[in-house]
Amino acid sequence: MKLIIHRGTHEIGGSCVELCSDSGRTRIVVDVGMPLVSPERMPFEWRQYKNLSQEQLLEQRVLPSVEGLYNHQKLSISAVILSHAHQDHYGFFRFVHPDIPIYMSIGTKCIVEISNLFLGTGVNLNRVQTFTMWLPFRVGEFTITPYLMDHSAPDAAALLIEADSQRLFYTGDFRGHGRKHVLLERLIKNPIYNVDCLVMEGSMIGREEGQFPDENAVEQAIFEIIANQSSYAFVFCSSQNLDRLVSIYRAVKRARKVLVIDLYTAFVLDKLSAISRSIPQFDWEEVRVLYAYSHAKKLAEYDRKLLYKYKKAKIGWDEILTNPHDMVVLSKDNFYFRKVVLRKLDTSSGSKAIYSMWHGYIEQTDLPQVLESHNIELVEIHTSGHAYVGDLKKLACAINARYLVPIHTFYPEKFLQMSPKVILLNDDEQMTLADSTK
Ligand SMILES: [Zn+2]
Repeated sequence: MKLIIHRGTHEIGGSCVELCSDSGRTRIVVDVGMPLVSPERMPFEWRQYKNLSQEQLLEQRVLPSVEGLYNHQKLSISAVILSHAHQDHYGFFRFVHPDIPIYMSIGTKCIVEISNLFLGTGVNLNRVQTFTMWLPFRVGEFTITPYLMDHSAPDAAALLIEADSQRLFYTGDFRGHGRKHVLLERLIKNPIYNVDCLVMEGSMIGREEGQFPDENAVEQAIFEIIANQSSYAFVFCSSQNLDRLVSIYRAVKRARKVLVIDLYTAFVLDKLSAISRSIPQFDWEEVRVLYAYSHAKKLAEYDRKLLYKYKKAKIGWDEILTNPHDMVVLSKDNFYFRKVVLRKLDTSSGSKAIYSMWHGYIEQTDLPQVLESHNIELVEIHTSGHAYVGDLKKLACAINARYLVPIHTFYPEKFLQMSPKVILLNDDEQMTLADSTK
């Protein structure tokens, strides 16, 4: 088996990994992500490139150089497999040749479908095949077994990939301090044996762990704020971060408050009920749904019946205005929040905003100034979606692969302190597992 990391050996984001059987007859690609940073390490702006042709995108090295993967090329890739539904792992799916089958988990498919509908990501889902966790499936000479992992995206998978008597384990993105931390604990206690090559993410290498060690600490900190709120509490959080939505819901329930979600979030939670019945839903007692015209329009295009379905939990502005100290409003920093929510609500005394996302995002906006101008106190409560260095070491040690290849990190050389078996690759460099020659 041959391994080529087309992007990700020296950066977080834009992950794209190719595996080729020794015979050369089967080539598969794992993740086709959009970069998070430019070659100059500035935030990647897709707007700057979106009018370029596929040839130009390849020429400028925006698209990873995988022969036979794209629309305009002669097809030679047998399948694309998606580890999870974060843009930096699937953002370039729209360019994949329409005849290449794409494999992903059920939860991942839900999120990709919703993003298609609301954000127009342009992914053709007709050829998607869903896989079941821990159930092997075959693609040509490869056998692939997905492993459910704890991550901020729901239903995220690591992949055990076998061919030519070689075994490679690709972790995808994972952590050990979320609501499914038991998954990593089990993997460390009962590791996969005889792994030749562990391709492991290292997002947290070189980053601070932060004030809140896990989702329980996040839930408790949110609870302490909303239990004592004297006016509105706004919580800024991605509607696709399922673990965080659960943390917020649990805090709201304990504090006996009302969680106000938008139609988009109600739809995400409804779709994800396919993977677990313990995911909070629009019709749970503490949850109410605020209708915004733009969301209602999108949803009606997809299925008008959903608008009636969610209506039983609908909340109006009158009710929100009457009980500000009970309202925990799930928010996004967008036009609707700035021009509708902030204009409708009187936030002049005691309102709080909880920013529950990566700190780097708020640094790129003027949200703190906007909140301050409305007398809203800002508090940041967040924990990372990625494994701490201690957990990376534990997993690497438990799996004890012949080779450890870093991916999804800005500091691959720091892996050298973790294990003597580290092999540092460059993007597009080929490694043959059988003899470890690159
Ligand atoms: Zn991710």
